[in-house]
Amino acid sequence: MSDTIEQHESSADGISEPQSAHTALLICRDSASQKWGPRWLEQSGFLTTSAHDPSHARKLAREMQPSVVIVEAGLLDAAGCRLYETLHRCGRRTPLRTLVLCANAREAQIALDNPDIADIVRKPFDWNLISRRARRAVVEADNEQELNRTYLALDEARAEIRDTRRSLAHSVDRDALTGLSSRVKFKRLLDQALLDQPKLSLLVIRLNRFRLVNEALGHDNGNRVLAEISQRLRKVLGGSTSAARGLVTVAASRLGGVRFGVLVSRMNDPEDLRKLADRIHGALCQPVRIANQSVYLSSSIGAAIAPLDGEDADRLLQHADLAVREAKQRGGGFSMYREPLAAGSARHLELEGLLHEALDRGQLHIEYQPLLQVAENKVIGAEALVRWHHPVQGNISPAEFIPIAENSGLMSRIGALVIDGACRQLRQWRDAGATDLRVAINLSLYQLRHGDVVEVVARALRETQLEPRLVELELSERGVVGRDHEVLHQLHRLKALGVRLAIDDFGTGESAIAYLKELPIDSLKIDRSYLKGALSDGRDATIVAGLIALARRLGLTVVAEGVEVGEQLRMLREWGCHQYQGFYFSPAVAGNRFLALAKSADQKVNACEGRVADLV
Ligand code: C2E
Ligand code: MG
Ligand code: MG
Repeated sequence: MSDTIEQHESSADGISEPQSAHTALLICRDSASQKWGPRWLEQSGFLTTSAHDPSHARKLAREMQPSVVIVEAGLLDAAGCRLYETLHRCGRRTPLRTLVLCANAREAQIALDNPDIADIVRKPFDWNLISRRARRAVVEADNEQELNRTYLALDEARAEIRDTRRSLAHSVDRDALTGLSSRVKFKRLLDQALLDQPKLSLLVIRLNRFRLVNEALGHDNGNRVLAEISQRLRKVLGGSTSAARGLVTVAASRLGGVRFGVLVSRMNDPEDLRKLADRIHGALCQPVRIANQSVYLSSSIGAAIAPLDGEDADRLLQHADLAVREAKQRGGGFSMYREPLAAGSARHLELEGLLHEALDRGQLHIEYQPLLQVAENKVIGAEALVRWHHPVQGNISPAEFIPIAENSGLMSRIGALVIDGACRQLRQWRDAGATDLRVAINLSLYQLRHGDVVEVVARALRETQLEPRLVELELSERGVVGRDHEVLHQLHRLKALGVRLAIDDFGTGESAIAYLKELPIDSLKIDRSYLKGALSDGRDATIVAGLIALARRLGLTVVAEGVEVGEQLRMLREWGCHQYQGFYFSPAVAGNRFLALAKSADQKVNACEGRVADLV
């Protein structure tokens, strides 16, 4: 008997109907069902296809993927199996929803036991009810599918969160710029390493003068240089674990800015560490090619050893940092942490406390070092230098307590005291007849950044009735070379008062010679280290001669500091230096001794000329 396929919708084949519509496949031989089934199903919104031959029904089910199949329980497939039992597996994606028409209680019992069956209906068949139950089965299926989709989306979201967490953890652990361990991870590794085997060393490496690279080449290129430096560091350390050369590097990190940390285990001999530091220095000082330029860098390295210098990560880092600071202060190189460095911090705290008292008890006073003309060896003024005589500790050097005053906010008070005192002293000297003298006063960078130094100077000038050009303010080169707008602004305000400005310690900072043109300065003081070197080192002599020539070309007065012997003075004279100061003539003396000292200059001239003559 040939199968009859009735299409009960307007579509040509009943298969490619709009996907949104629900479809039903009715498989039955009962004539009443064949007649009423499709009608009621369509009433319930189904596009219905009917079939009565089991093998065709299977084919249809596969092709149509109907939303629901309504099948007579008694129909068997070619293998003699109940059609509804095998039919539901025809679904390509999800099992078909199957509703079974049962002719008797036995058929109903068997169908009920089948978990894949959505619903059963007993004879006599009420097609109104059946179509509604088919509808409900389909709605339930839709809901279930929706739920599954939601579960799927949830799973995907969870996976995404997991990935994000993983990459977040990665970014917390890695420094994005260099790919080295982050500070957080490094500290974790350090703590872990200390637990595992307490014998290890920590190196902290700091790049010197990196600010210049950023200023000259821009931050992007600065970052490229840092990335290159990290690569070199990795290479020197031989990867994350290198048993070669008997050392095992557990980790390298960018601790922040231009500071790097290296953790070396199984090594705590200072000599070995020095050799390792030498290798690092060697690698980092090779020029880095960037933006068609060769950038030359140097580094300072500090080391601390566990457990001697610290038993936990914080302490070791703190001590390696102190060591690197010491290395930097010495102009680079390598430094091991030593107890005195920590003692230095304790001393810092002690002096900070004492300095408060010193100000309140008037322990600070000013001494004056004569400033002379090179050509005539005539005293033309004085540099005011602050002095601290502590009743128990004795004299404490300004080089030691000025940085402490800056850190503790006392510098504005000390600065005002010196400005005030020096102006009053000059007034007294002038009143005593020394009308050709002027005074130089040191300013700390802190005063320019935080204090009311312009007002303090203006008030001192007003109160002492001094001509502003008789006062020269010295600012260390270290302070002015960075393009700090606030500092520049203050310098211009001071200049507007009519005072003279000088760059002190020239040659010790990050000398940007071109920058000199932009500063509102009148004089340049060459740092005494060059004068010292000029006697023995031809290069230093060349530098001093060059700096003098440069300053003269720029129309600046040039002053040499730290002249200790006649030969230095002879050189300065030859090179055309304008002024000098130094122990050769006199150290700083009390204000009330100064005029007598200045008068003795003539005698010194003769002595000096004599000595110079001997040398020529
Ligand atoms: P500076 O301004 O470069 O002062 C010159 C320093 O060199 C003084 O050291 C002086 O005593 C020393 N000196 C002068 N001639 C010679 C010499 O022939 N040979 C040697 N070896 N040294 C010489 P001092 O007084 O210890 O001051 C050190 C630094 O402390 C000063 O360097 C200055 O930067 C700072 N300072 C001193 N007084 C003040 C102050 O009142 N305010 C501020 N802000 N800083 C001050
Ligand atoms: Mg000075
Ligand atoms: Mg100086």
